[in-house]
Amino acid sequence: MRAGVIRGKGTFELAEMPDPVPEAGEAVVEIHRCGICGSDVHAYVEGWNYAPGICGHEWIGTVAAVGAGVTLVSEGDRVAAGVAPGCGTCEECRADLPEYCRVAQSFYAGKRAPKNGGFARAMSLAANRLCKLPANLGDDAGAVVEPASVALHGVRRSHLRVGDVATVVGCGPIGLLTLQCARIAGAGHVVAVEPDAGRRARALALGADAAVAPGDELRAHLEQVTGGLRADIAFDCAGVPQTLQQSVDMVRRGGSVMMIGVAGGEATMVPMRWLAKEVTVQTSMVFTLDEMAIIGDLAVSGRINLEGLVDGTITLDELGSTIDDLANRRTDAVKLLVDPRAG
Ligand SMILES: [Zn+2]
Ligand SMILES: [Zn+2]
Repeated sequence: MRAGVIRGKGTFELAEMPDPVPEAGEAVVEIHRCGICGSDVHAYVEGWNYAPGICGHEWIGTVAAVGAGVTLVSEGDRVAAGVAPGCGTCEECRADLPEYCRVAQSFYAGKRAPKNGGFARAMSLAANRLCKLPANLGDDAGAVVEPASVALHGVRRSHLRVGDVATVVGCGPIGLLTLQCARIAGAGHVVAVEPDAGRRARALALGADAAVAPGDELRAHLEQVTGGLRADIAFDCAGVPQTLQQSVDMVRRGGSVMMIGVAGGEATMVPMRWLAKEVTVQTSMVFTLDEMAIIGDLAVSGRINLEGLVDGTITLDELGSTIDDLANRRTDAVKLLVDPRAG
């Protein structure tokens, strides 16, 4: 079996790996589709020490075999994966912080992580990391459940209140999913902030009330909608450090900023502008398995549009050149999926 892995800066490899066999507590999942995440591209561009088991983490598949002791899933279940619930015995769990469980984390990206991610025909992983998804959820939508869960987690952790004016900064996949989650959560007016016109059109098609370029256009729009107060909350989904201060600047006094997009490098902030505003800045990382199940239900009931993000599906053989195209911005695709069984 071949598995796509990022080995370092600018280095992608289709590595030959043994077909996975489930160990005790594990399930082997046959991958139907796996999305290329911004973090996969970041790892390629910046040369992160990237765990093979998360290189390709946005997947949907079917359970093909289970190891000894597995009762949570069975053959034929449609599943996606996240971080397992807390183990109950580590320092974090005993401090009532199960969402930061170090044992669960080690099964995700640490020592006990799978040997490969979803850029392969199959993978074996701890069965308690799996979330069952509705049988009638399509493959394209299914591959977007993972990033949608990231967006949902950010909105659920945020200070968003019904009726709020919310800005969503950056209309890549996480932005386009966050704006939909913000609407579902009751935002009164959702403004997508994005320099690219094509992506602004995409944001409007997926339910944003307005889509504007950053800078003067944004300032004029907020002036008109809020009478100069500015947004109640900004969701920073841009994945670049520069937008952090911009997000603080676009919210009202006493407003809040939720950072969801993963940005490498260092950001510059103007402490006085944060202080003067009494702004609340929060961060959000990953999601719970329950949130993944919620996204599955929202998708089949038509309340969130996941397949609307998908631009196309490629084969494993095309993956290396496609990641390079994404890294060098030779494509403006929002979300590309890999079908590891094709080609
Ligand atoms: Zn991701
Ligand atoms: Zn634990």
